Amino acid sequence: MTTSLYARLAARFPDPSKVFLETHDGRTITYGDLDAESARMAGALMKLGVKPGDRVAVQVQKSAEALLLYLGCLRAGAVYLPLNTAYTLAELGYFIGDAEPTVVVCDPAVREAVAALPEAKGVAAVETLDSAGRGTMADKAAGQFDTFADVDRAGDDLAAILYTSGTTGRSKGAMLTQDNLASNAEVLVDAWRFTAADVLIHALPIYHTHGLFVATNTLLMAGGTMLFLPKFDADAVLALMPRATTMMGVPTFYTRLIDHPGLTREVTKTMRLFTSGSAPLLAETHRAFEERTGHRILERYGMTETNMSTSNPYEGERRAGTVGFPLPGVDLRIVDPDSGSELPQGEIGIIEVKGPNVFKGYWRMPEKTQAEFRPDGFFITGDVAMVDADGYVHIVGRAKDLIISGGFNVYPKEVESEIDAMEGVVESAVIGLPHRDFGEGVTAVVVLETGAALPEEHVQAQLKQRLAAYKLPKRVFFVDALPRNTMGKVQKNVLRDTYAKTYEG
Ligand code: ATP
Ligand code: MG
Repeated sequence: MTTSLYARLAARFPDPSKVFLETHDGRTITYGDLDAESARMAGALMKLGVKPGDRVAVQVQKSAEALLLYLGCLRAGAVYLPLNTAYTLAELGYFIGDAEPTVVVCDPAVREAVAALPEAKGVAAVETLDSAGRGTMADKAAGQFDTFADVDRAGDDLAAILYTSGTTGRSKGAMLTQDNLASNAEVLVDAWRFTAADVLIHALPIYHTHGLFVATNTLLMAGGTMLFLPKFDADAVLALMPRATTMMGVPTFYTRLIDHPGLTREVTKTMRLFTSGSAPLLAETHRAFEERTGHRILERYGMTETNMSTSNPYEGERRAGTVGFPLPGVDLRIVDPDSGSELPQGEIGIIEVKGPNVFKGYWRMPEKTQAEFRPDGFFITGDVAMVDADGYVHIVGRAKDLIISGGFNVYPKEVESEIDAMEGVVESAVIGLPHRDFGEGVTAVVVLETGAALPEEHVQAQLKQRLAAYKLPKRVFFVDALPRNTMGKVQKNVLRDTYAKTYEG
């Protein structure tokens, strides 16, 4: 039995005439096309000098061809290394220097600048793909007619290196094996009841674990059909919905859909599943979406390093404010960060996970890898959580965002939930800032609804009635919007920098 990801996907492919992907401009790619075209991509990469285990770094706009390139990399035995399209040339240089790819595929507009990067000296070829999937990479694949044989890989061989989102600092390259990705896709097909009858709305970016692995691999593993959008757009998503059965999204997809008058029961009639992840889904969003559509969003939890670790149940209660239960094969425990010992049910600590889903380590960071794994193989996620009496995992936040004020632990989420429930508040972020007396001063940054007036003293007075004194924000700032990265995650480090000097002197 072969163990490589592509072979495990292909073993379940349906009839070659079945449509795999439909693009927003009406092109269709069948499973037969996928098989033929990704083989050509693989052949073209091999001709460019790519050997098994070599990295292929890809920073391109979302297109069908970009997905075929991903599959081509797998089939050539190469390590796929997608990069966020928002990265600047300088950032791209850093990642190329770090990953030392054999081939770089980028947008035609920056090809020359990329080739001229000092870090790109050792790169054998810089190829291009544009947003329509045209470019030298597509041309080379099209001219590739040699018979091609898939390069088989062992389960433990790398399939991809995926850089983390950089929410808490510099992105780290997570080394993901063939088996990490294949086993997670197999688990998700079962957990979320994917079948060949599924039609998935794909509006996520494909440089991130969510859109690339969770969405694409799962859909491919089921042999379903994908409706591809270049990016999320509420009008476009709603227009596709009557033909679809599932959508995977981040919380901002759902808040924008709720804001759209076109979101109705009627338009979601054929849908059987909406999932949310990458950032916490507010209870309010859950409620509003269900009220409008009758559908209860299924929230799950994962990270670049672990793929999907937990999920709310497909059947049974999808509990708001939780990410559900560990998926089959995943061992999850809550650990006291100081002693390293497992905490009893109901207590708050750090999530540690172990299982076939967990990555092999950080690329070229052996010390960091060692520091984040326990000797018994558990990975220390850095996320803070509690497991309730029914086994649902409640994520409280990130260990890095925990505030220690006057020696007391303050979990930002607790304070944020109180502020978010106030009249006129859209959302909030609670952070700790250097404070002479308290070590860290609890600070709230709040976004108000347009036209709403809520003076700082009122926020503080309301909180005083609900929270212990040490949890109360010493200052409340009002902003038009919270800083977010491209996955919609609030960047608390940006806020901490902005307000760093608040309690100075
Ligand atoms: P970096 O590690 O570079 O700082 P990042 O952690 O944001 O960036 P990702 O791997 O994309 O990079 O995100 C994983 C993180 O996203 C998790 O560790 C967790 O903090 C958060 N997350 C994912 N799903 C959920 C969820 N359903 N609820 C709350 N947080 C979530
Ligand atoms: Mg992380």
